[in-house]
Amino acid sequence: MLSRLIIFISAFGLLTSSCSKAPAKPYPLDTCPISGKKVDDHGEPFVFSRNGQEVKLCCEACLEEFDANADKLLKEIAAKSKP
Ligand SMILES: [Zn+2]
Repeated sequence: MLSRLIIFISAFGLLTSSCSKAPAKPYPLDTCPISGKKVDDHGEPFVFSRNGQEVKLCCEACLEEFDANADKLLKEIAAKSKP
C-alpha cells in the first residue's frame, strides 16, 4: 500500500515538473542565426526559448526575422544540437 503511494507521488512529481517548466535545450551555436554574427557582437545576446529550445540572437531586432522563419530555424538549430 505504501509503495503504491510512493509511486503515485513520484509519478505526479514527474508530471508536474515536466509540465510546468521543462528546461530548454541549450543553444548550440555562438552565432546569431539571423545575422551570422557572434551573439555577443553588440552587447548582451538576446536569449529566449521556443518549443523547449533555447535561442540566442545578437539583438532583439533579429527576433522579428527569427519568428518569420521560426520552424525552419528551430530545425536547423536542433540539427546542430545533435552530438
Ligand atoms: Zn541582431
